[in-house]
Amino acid sequence: MSLDDQIQAVLGVYYQGLACKECGASVRIGEYECAHCGTDFEELLREWSGVIVNELEAQCGLDT
Ligand SMILES: [Zn+2]
Repeated sequence: MSLDDQIQAVLGVYYQGLACKECGASVRIGEYECAHCGTDFEELLREWSGVIVNELEAQCGLDT
């Protein structure tokens, strides 16, 4: 898998967007808590990072 393919995979997840589980407000990159309801995003960001890692692993698996 080329770097370009990996970048596309990460951007694909990024463009799907991220929303607060409590109030549904959109999450901006760099925010650690919801500007609307104050929910801590740590768990949400960890899950989101996991989705990106899984996506990369799935894409890499296709190459082998
Ligand atoms: Zn919220």
